[in-house]
Amino acid sequence: MTIRLGIVGVGKIARDQHLPAIAANPHFDLVAAASRHASVDGIASFATIEEMLAGVPDLDAVSICTPPGGRSDIVRAAIAAGKHVMIEKPPGATVSEVVALEQLAADAGVTLFATWHSREASGVDAARDWLADKQVTSVAISWREDIRVWHPGQDWILGPGGFGVFDPGINALSIVTKILPTELSVESGALHVPDGRESPIAATVQMRCGNGAPGRVDLDFLQTGPQSWDIVVETTAGTLTLRDGGKTLSIDGKGAAEGGGIDEGEYPRLYARFAELVPSAGRDVDLRPLQLVADAYLVAHRVVADPFEF
Ligand code: NAP
Repeated sequence: MTIRLGIVGVGKIARDQHLPAIAANPHFDLVAAASRHASVDGIASFATIEEMLAGVPDLDAVSICTPPGGRSDIVRAAIAAGKHVMIEKPPGATVSEVVALEQLAADAGVTLFATWHSREASGVDAARDWLADKQVTSVAISWREDIRVWHPGQDWILGPGGFGVFDPGINALSIVTKILPTELSVESGALHVPDGRESPIAATVQMRCGNGAPGRVDLDFLQTGPQSWDIVVETTAGTLTLRDGGKTLSIDGKGAAEGGGIDEGEYPRLYARFAELVPSAGRDVDLRPLQLVADAYLVAHRVVADPFEF
């Protein structure tokens, strides 16, 4: 089955990852794009999803790469037109809007695939398998990257519903909710929001595992020099370390030393999964990472940080 696909929101991640992954997957034929300012060479381009759905009515599916704020209306339009839908992380600006979208997709009999690209990094499944029978004693997440490198000029990310430093931080939460043999809950935190902005540029969150073990999350968007995306899980049987955003796994310091950049296999694996879901109109929506961010916003105290300009 060839899936006639439209893409919505032609920005950094669409160009860096989605377009190459779609081009390399024989199950997909990219036939249309919708973006207010951008276009994709060689295919029909429209300013809005409504225009795309009207202009190319025989689309089978839509991949949505816009920021989370305002994405719900786009997903609703696609579902209402009977299209299968894949969405970038975070799946929405709120938990409740995504719950509603999942219900709409079920009622319409179409796929809703809420992707978590970091769960596809090459060390993640092996980490989950190793931890499956272990007793966790602590979890530490340190996600430190340079907003100017990874999100150049993206004012939306520090706006309302932009997630701020939780935009990358939710990737770490998507990994730990996949690999830990115990659920995590949020206890307290601090959100450092630049003066005049709405979303945090740094955050710390204290968590607790279901078995009582402590968890700590440190997120920083102002990291210059070496970037780090690290998760350390202490257990009674040894220490598991995932570095490079889930790509590099070691146990007690021993293991693969891949390193360097993100795992280029993440997006090809997401599109392979979408191609699996579409024929049966299957749904894959796990809201636990988004729920943890929402809970951090509920209990954390706010600190006014220095103003930030790109
Ligand atoms: P981006 O470069 O700003 O691209 C998003 C595009 O969506 C924009 O270029 C814009 O194109 C369109 N858009 C539609 N409505 C918009 C609105 N209200 N505000 C801003 N843009 C709007 O952002 P991105 O980095 O690609 O991120 C998009 C999504 O991908 C986010 O959910 C992010 O978490 C996720 N993601 C990003 C990265 C990364 O490294 N940057 C990595 C993985 C996942 P038009 O102006 O043409 O409409």
